[in-house]
Amino acid sequence: MAPPCGGILKAAMALSGAQTAGEMGPSSRGGSGSSAGKNPGARPVEKTFYIETFGCQMNAHDSEKVIGTLEHQGYRQVQSEMEANLILYNTCSIRDKAEQKVFHRLNDFKKYYAAGKRFAVLGCVAQQEGERIFERAPYVSIVSGSASYRKLPEMLRRLEAGERHITGLDDRQTEETFETEFTRRSNPHRGYITIIEGCDKFCAYCVVPYTRGKERSRTGSSVVGEARRMAASGYTEVQLLGQNVNSYRDPEGKLSFAELLGAIGELDGIRRVRFTTSHPRDFTRDIVEVIDRVETLCDHVHLPVQSGSSRMLQAMQREYTMESYLERIAWIKSARRPISITTDIIVGFPGETETDFGQTLDLLQRVQYDAVFAFKYSPRPNTPALAMPDSIDDEEKSRRLQRLLEKQREIQRTNYANHIGQVMEVAVEGFNTQRGQVIGRSSQNKTVNFSARQAIFPAPGSYLPVQITNSFPNSLVGEAVQ
Ligand code: SF4
Repeated sequence: MAPPCGGILKAAMALSGAQTAGEMGPSSRGGSGSSAGKNPGARPVEKTFYIETFGCQMNAHDSEKVIGTLEHQGYRQVQSEMEANLILYNTCSIRDKAEQKVFHRLNDFKKYYAAGKRFAVLGCVAQQEGERIFERAPYVSIVSGSASYRKLPEMLRRLEAGERHITGLDDRQTEETFETEFTRRSNPHRGYITIIEGCDKFCAYCVVPYTRGKERSRTGSSVVGEARRMAASGYTEVQLLGQNVNSYRDPEGKLSFAELLGAIGELDGIRRVRFTTSHPRDFTRDIVEVIDRVETLCDHVHLPVQSGSSRMLQAMQREYTMESYLERIAWIKSARRPISITTDIIVGFPGETETDFGQTLDLLQRVQYDAVFAFKYSPRPNTPALAMPDSIDDEEKSRRLQRLLEKQREIQRTNYANHIGQVMEVAVEGFNTQRGQVIGRSSQNKTVNFSARQAIFPAPGSYLPVQITNSFPNSLVGEAVQ
């Protein structure tokens, strides 16, 4: 599947205030104040950083952990690259031309090197391109894939000691996960927890197994412990993350994925638990059963299908057929709770005929998804699909994508309209002050814009019953119920 996404995001994650940029190097070693002993008159150079994050929720959460790690090493986050003396790019390579975009962006910052700024390229493009990044952009100091983030403190120490090129490029050998108690979450109510890193599936089109390493699960006790600490500090919603959460294996052998979901859902203070992404081959019936049993588990399963044609699924090396996928859909639809189903689809995979594509359209009709994240196939480096002739031209891919999105839009128009008249619990996320509306999200992960019959907007993180009065293909409209 595409990495857990719900849409690609570009998040410039910078929280705190401005700070003078300073030279990275021996003078700044040891954090703020460390050089005072050497020169009592000198003002210590503060270590500041700016980070930009591209890609999926896994990357967004990795950046939260990287930020916490940097802060623990004495760095302070600033709002722009101009103010920072260390600039980090957490990159994504899931889409076409990602590498070129990264090099193009790095080129913008070449001029800052002489001023003492240093650069780190993190994430999937870093792992994929490796030391070639130093060849094309010699002013980059750190190149690190996500499987090496646990070594960040050591890499930072080497950077501060003046080392020019530092690599963290663990391939599929590592067994370790990146766990830190210093995660700096950007939202005070909803937070991610990674439960499994890497992927062993090797779908024909996907770079993830090569960039994120092999599957490594965290222990159930460490995941539950982190969720408990989050609940104690005010978090009410957690989202469990992994490239394939369904292949979670507790290294202590205590909890299956479904049991882990149940254990977190039963923690005091937790009101909502989500998880992403699932793989149809590993999706088991007990996941539906635990959603039925534990009220805090959300009414939503994202089950990426990629194609409605078993022939295409085989070419994609997805390890399931349409029949077995539909069996899982039947489990979900037979739940007592109204579980919303969403999916990912690739159009124009090499060899996809009009008949194969027609089967994908038929699947939309059959499942009645609440959302579809659809993309045109684009060849990615190092993947088996790269050797397959990319036989469908871009115009035809665009036409298929358009047809698919139009069909899905009509399905969603009906699905969303079916909620009119219902009262649902909505978690408040923000406000649209111009429209005087509160923006929130339902358990099914649907956006709900509603008016609150009170002078003051309800606080983000609160939960309100909302009566649905209108709908669009991607959102609901309602009024808070007293
Ligand atoms: S290889 Fe792994 S991450 Fe990539 S699509 Fe397949 S299951 Fe998902």
